[in-house]
Amino acid sequence: MELYKDNQLKIYNSLSKSKELFKPVTEGRVGMYVCGPTVYSNVHLGNVRTFMSFDMVFRYLLHLGYKVRYVRNITDAGHLENDADEGEDRISKKARLEEIEPMEVVQRYTVDFHETVAQYNFLPPSIEPTATGHIVEQIEMIKEIMKKGYAYEVNGSVYFDVMAYNEDGNNYGILSGRKMEDAIHNTRTLDGQSDKKNPQDFALWKKADDRHIMRWPSPWSDGFPGWHLECSVMSSKYLGEQFDIHGGGMDLKFPHHECEIAQSHTCSGKTPVNYWMHANMLLLNGQKMAKSTGNFVLPKEIITGENTVLSKAFAPSVVRFFNMQAHYRSILDFASDALEASEKGYYKLMEAVNALDGIEAGKTSSFDVFHWKQQCYDAMNDDFNTPILIAHLFEAVKVINQLKEKKATLTATDLELFKNTIHAFVFDVLGLTNETKQDSSDKIDGVVELLIKLRKEARDNKDWALSDQIRDELLSLGIQLKDGREGTTFSIN
Ligand code: AMP
Ligand code: ZN
Repeated sequence: MELYKDNQLKIYNSLSKSKELFKPVTEGRVGMYVCGPTVYSNVHLGNVRTFMSFDMVFRYLLHLGYKVRYVRNITDAGHLENDADEGEDRISKKARLEEIEPMEVVQRYTVDFHETVAQYNFLPPSIEPTATGHIVEQIEMIKEIMKKGYAYEVNGSVYFDVMAYNEDGNNYGILSGRKMEDAIHNTRTLDGQSDKKNPQDFALWKKADDRHIMRWPSPWSDGFPGWHLECSVMSSKYLGEQFDIHGGGMDLKFPHHECEIAQSHTCSGKTPVNYWMHANMLLLNGQKMAKSTGNFVLPKEIITGENTVLSKAFAPSVVRFFNMQAHYRSILDFASDALEASEKGYYKLMEAVNALDGIEAGKTSSFDVFHWKQQCYDAMNDDFNTPILIAHLFEAVKVINQLKEKKATLTATDLELFKNTIHAFVFDVLGLTNETKQDSSDKIDGVVELLIKLRKEARDNKDWALSDQIRDELLSLGIQLKDGREGTTFSIN
């Protein structure tokens, strides 16, 4: 039986602002597009949180039995320093400052991104297209938008005409709820914006000035595409004019996704995306984690512990567990003590999962596995509610402990179902890996305890030389043994 046919997955759609029963355009198949990283610097943990949320969505859809085409792009051109089509291209700027080729910048940070997502156990997307690989298609889309009358050229740059689009009964603002008049009212007249008819118009093509290194020929000028265009082009190219899920961080809702809708809708006349999903922000010190403000932690620093906001190093699965303990639409505060709490929970869960293998089946079942399993699905079907799923997994931990102590029993069939369900949710859906405790102090404690045992055996055999050797060599390492009536204890200096 294919599970998805009976499944009642509901997704919160940012477009309708409600939870909707998920029904893909093509039965059994899902097309999902997620805006990928702009590769001008190392991804920070906030970026990773958003991508991890969609990795979980991807994993759950696969688990349900859907055939998923997951497209997550690499933005390697066109993303300017601010949302008002102002400033330099982020990659160009980095290349200029470091006196290297823009493609060296792109290569360096794409590699960093791939290393990071591998460390954090992400599934690779089905397609990872780049903006620079789709310049021809972007130029074609601009021509199409101009043909429809919603774009105009000024001094070699081309802008989308938001007013003209709306006057024809379309709704720029449909996703963000922003009113055009508010946009006009709220937007300062910025330098360089004078080319635009209206401040809310956005660039489809920008003429490159002399210092702009990344440039391509076009009918309008040597220049580069606007940032919003690449996602309309690559999503429609690989997923069709109308596809199922489009994701990204909350901060992309406006203007990026609003512009994507206007561009795609202009070309196809269709609603491009059926379910818009937005993941919430990771905060540090009460502020959005962001590269531009310097308020960030790098995912690699978490693994080494090399950041002053961290009390120690943490395993990637602990960070994954920490993220999954919050709903993807909730704000999450990053803090070292919060990670420490997650670490305890994660290892408790892993201990229980590992203990499952040693449990023997009984004649009867004292726990309703089927009902519990349904609760796990209900949680995930309620807009991917991972914190509730985790609460159910901790109920399972309690049951496993009772099974260990023979205070509960499960029949062979129920035990198999219980194991399979736990494994599926913990490893396949949440994407955790079964990491052994990384806390080296625990390991040292274990080794010293072992040496104390061997020393006691030596003493029992009256092998004073060996017993003294163990004591003295430990002392030279700063570990002092104290013999007392209760046995031998130790202290580490
Ligand atoms: P960028 O590389 O700037 O295009 O961002 C890549 C992704 O990370 C986008 O989906 C952003 O919405 C997301 N993002 C940026 N900052 C944060 C944050 N502090 N928390 C969660 N997601 C973020
Ligand atoms: Zn995008």
